[in-house]
Amino acid sequence: MDIVQITQIAQSLNGKFERTCPICKFRGYFKAYGSPPRWDARCPVCRSLERHRLLYLAIQSDFPLEPDGRLLHFAPEPATTRFVRPAVAEYLTADISGHHVDYTINIERINLPDSSFDAIICSHVLEHVDDRSALSEMYRVLRPKGVLYLMTPVIDGWETTYEHKHARGALERELHFGQNDHLRYYGRDLRDRILSAGFLLDEYTASGEACVTYSLWRGERIFVCRKG
Ligand SMILES: [Zn+2]
Repeated sequence: MDIVQITQIAQSLNGKFERTCPICKFRGYFKAYGSPPRWDARCPVCRSLERHRLLYLAIQSDFPLEPDGRLLHFAPEPATTRFVRPAVAEYLTADISGHHVDYTINIERINLPDSSFDAIICSHVLEHVDDRSALSEMYRVLRPKGVLYLMTPVIDGWETTYEHKHARGALERELHFGQNDHLRYYGRDLRDRILSAGFLLDEYTASGEACVTYSLWRGERIFVCRKG
């Protein structure tokens, strides 16, 4: 049996502990997800993963959305759309592929006017692209006081971002960066890149207790970037 078969079987298995999904309020056993599979990762009802539930909690607690606002969601995932769309006045989606979105957009060169949005959600996109261009462009299209909710894999034990310039092929990128279309693993200096784009920065992470209840990644962060 190979890794793909093992992963497929594992993803059908129930988790070990009962969890609660804060998004759809399901309580019970989550499913495994990922390669290698993570137990208790995916809600069987709304299909949320750890990162979707963390964003929900951040928005519900410390960093609420502006109900009258206009929000742009890059690479939208349905579990996030489910709770964001009803929370704002205008919800718009964007992706480079153009499938099932409002705008076909290259995040490195956003073909929209300055100061167009009150909020942007950009989750697990930055590690795929020219991040300096993407951060600069998202800053540009946000209105003053607008907020970018940014998520990306970060290795907080590393001072500097790991970008292996020679990892050009898909297999090499998977080896170096964990996925065949990732360009880097961020270190703590991700914060410097955010600040360099002009943003003010807050961060959200869930408590240990919340990680148990909602099955979250311990220490995972949301970078809440505000245009001053
Ligand atoms: Zn759910």
